[in-house]
Amino acid sequence: MQQIEEYKKEITAYSSTDEKSVEEFRIKYLGTKGIVKAIMGEMKNVPNDRKKEFGQVLNEFKTFTEQKFESLKSQATDHQQSGSEIDLTLPGDPVPLGSRHPVTLMKNRIISIYQRLGFAVAEGPEIEDDWHNFTALNLPEHHPARDMQDTFYIQQNPDWLLRTHTSNTQIREMEKGKLPIRVICPGRVYRNETVSARSHCFFHQVEGLYIDENVSFADLKQTLYFFVKEMYGEDVKVRFRPSYFPFTEPSAEMDVSCFICGGKGCRICKYSGWVEILGCGMVHPNVLENCKIDSDKYTGFAFGMGIERPALIKYDINDIRLFSENDVRFLRQFTSAV
Ligand SMILES: [Zn+2]
Repeated sequence: MQQIEEYKKEITAYSSTDEKSVEEFRIKYLGTKGIVKAIMGEMKNVPNDRKKEFGQVLNEFKTFTEQKFESLKSQATDHQQSGSEIDLTLPGDPVPLGSRHPVTLMKNRIISIYQRLGFAVAEGPEIEDDWHNFTALNLPEHHPARDMQDTFYIQQNPDWLLRTHTSNTQIREMEKGKLPIRVICPGRVYRNETVSARSHCFFHQVEGLYIDENVSFADLKQTLYFFVKEMYGEDVKVRFRPSYFPFTEPSAEMDVSCFICGGKGCRICKYSGWVEILGCGMVHPNVLENCKIDSDKYTGFAFGMGIERPALIKYDINDIRLFSENDVRFLRQFTSAV
């Protein structure tokens, strides 16, 4: 019993965070030829009347030694983890940040401006039938204006095609029969055009549509003035040029004074001082009637603009093909762009 007390003092005093010494401790006290085993062997020499008492002390000693070993072991592990191999003060491994696509950045910017005027966002299908892409928009079969938009047909008779503009969404909104309508329709469109630095066979548009009683060309101009000021700044001048679209009458194209050179003339405005921004006009009565809207009671305006072109100008990109090549070296440049 006295010997056990001695060992207990020795064990209590034992301290090490070194794995090797901890293993030595285990062999010395808890190993098959260790002290605990040896003392247990003494059991046979203990008189019968004291066996119970000695047994208790022995068990307690064994537990005591095992607990000490466990605590030494966990101290050694902690020590190793916080050792010189790992410096917890170093910064972590960098997680690469993604970026928004420049076309998405421009699209979101345009949407946010019109949303402030109360326009809701509507989306429509990219695969469309002839009615929603052409006929309902006052472009009946054999209408020469269909040639203005070279079309990808998926199937003919009945015709299924890749939409050539987002105007199909306007038709679908009007067909719902809920008036008034105030929506913008962003989306991807397709035209059978030769791919070059300036044009592509698919691109993006945002179109707007406002239909209610007493909507006039003045409302159209005011809406677009607000857009231009928000988009290009207070100082930019606006001009409307008469134009032709089958689905609007009267129709106009809108230019803004070049926001790069301030109207003096530069590469972007082809030295004219003006940049063409969008097409617009009052919705043609035939289009309203095609969608079962009373054209004597209701009027409306529509406008449409590309997204790629303003994005090319804003981010000074000289090749439209970069938008769809998915080259990460290009895309990475927009990590912090807005
Ligand atoms: Zn210019």
